[in-house]
Amino acid sequence: MIDLELGILNRSAFFSELKTSYLHGRKNDEQALFIALEYDCVCKLRSVISTEHVSFLLAHLVDIFKAHLPEQAILGRSLKEINAYIPHVQLADLNQIIQRLQNAFEMPIYLPNGRMVEVKPKLLSAFLPGILEEPENPDTVINQLAMFLGYVDQLEDGKSHFHLDEQTLSYLNKRIKIDRLILGAQANDELYVLYQPKVDIKNNRIIGAEALVRWSSPELGLVSPELFIERAEFTGMIQSLSLYVLQDAIDLLDKARVHDQHFSVNINLTATCIESGYFIAELEHYVRNSGHPASAFEFEITETVAIKHYETALKGLQRLHSLGCKIALDDFGTGYSCLSLLSKLPLDTLKIDKSFVGNMFDSVVDIQIVKTVVALAQACNLNVIAEGIETEEQADVLIRELGCRYGQGYYFKRPIHPVKLLPLIQAQSHQDGKRKVAVAKTLMPKIFGRVN
Ligand code: C2E
Ligand code: CA
Ligand code: CA
Repeated sequence: MIDLELGILNRSAFFSELKTSYLHGRKNDEQALFIALEYDCVCKLRSVISTEHVSFLLAHLVDIFKAHLPEQAILGRSLKEINAYIPHVQLADLNQIIQRLQNAFEMPIYLPNGRMVEVKPKLLSAFLPGILEEPENPDTVINQLAMFLGYVDQLEDGKSHFHLDEQTLSYLNKRIKIDRLILGAQANDELYVLYQPKVDIKNNRIIGAEALVRWSSPELGLVSPELFIERAEFTGMIQSLSLYVLQDAIDLLDKARVHDQHFSVNINLTATCIESGYFIAELEHYVRNSGHPASAFEFEITETVAIKHYETALKGLQRLHSLGCKIALDDFGTGYSCLSLLSKLPLDTLKIDKSFVGNMFDSVVDIQIVKTVVALAQACNLNVIAEGIETEEQADVLIRELGCRYGQGYYFKRPIHPVKLLPLIQAQSHQDGKRKVAVAKTLMPKIFGRVN
């Protein structure tokens, strides 16, 4: 019942008290306030202060919390928070209470050894029943509060106080819905893959394609990959989604390489994928058994992922690279642009982010960035691809003035279904065949007869 370290209710006792008190409040039509104090800021100090001092700090936070809450508050400890439930309060009391708490946490704390530490815990608040759904059902109310606590990292934007307002609730509900639906998306056949051609800007020849996954949900419609990839990462289904994309890409290689044996595919990988030894082993297995050379696969990771997860990413990338797969650094220039990555990671290609290409003619800085990245890639013996080419002028300047030979973008092709891509590759190889025969005829007129 009681958390022995902090002398307040444990998690289950707290929520059972909350339930009783909430039901009582509903009968009398009273409002209540829920406040959570996230103590991750103390846990993070574990590597620099002793365990006793961590306990001291937590107890101190509880004392400050208690001292600044109305006396009817019930306190309890959860995994990452100290929770308070304050029955019969008015919405007007909220600001005052939060302000008092924030002021109190501004003060430094002195450890028993005299050392001063500053801890600024995050505060989360919700008014009950307020805007919560199914207010007559305390279990649903508690679930919504738990979701709010669980999702606070997603709302992170440097603020120290989050209130569960309508906007936040609708944001959370949308994500909760996506999380629930995406888990079934693959099994229900709602995913498919489009391919955006990578093009040789000099002659518009398609040299390969980037796999871009799509989710068409019967309930939500077409969901933006930027949104659902993040949720797939959060819910842990990104690995099976990525293997699905890889399998689809292998099917494309089977058909495309019949016409062009140099055709390659690019596949995006996220942090969770690249960090997992199990996942990398699965990739290796798929690539080895694909019947195609490993060099036909190029895996893309973003600069941000490469930096934030450097140690683990490096290991995974090295394994793929030693197998013969290519590695590309995606969205180059948008992360922290840590240039030492270029020598530390086993890279083959830099992909210039589309924001620079899009602004090339409006910003002197952006065109210089494109120029510099191309020069940098050449100096480091890396391939370079410009993304987001939308106009002929951009393509022209990239190839003529900036020396960037390869590109992707709506100017050449939007992401398309393999059914539309394959005829393009086939037609291209047909042209190549004709050209080869023409060249051979000029070189060997005796065999082919005279060419006029
Ligand atoms: P990305 O890897 O940078 O992919 C390029 C994005 O730019 C694609 O958006 C593509 O449709 C879009 N794009 C291509 N050409 C142009 C252009 O000329 N102008 C503009 N404005 N945009 C262009 P999409 O397909 O919406 O994908 C967004 C992001 O979602 C991707 O960015 C990638 O980070 C992620 N993503 C998509 N498919 C996958 C996947 O299978 N696995 C993983 N892990 N991430 C994926
Ligand atoms: Ca990409
Ligand atoms: Ca990109």
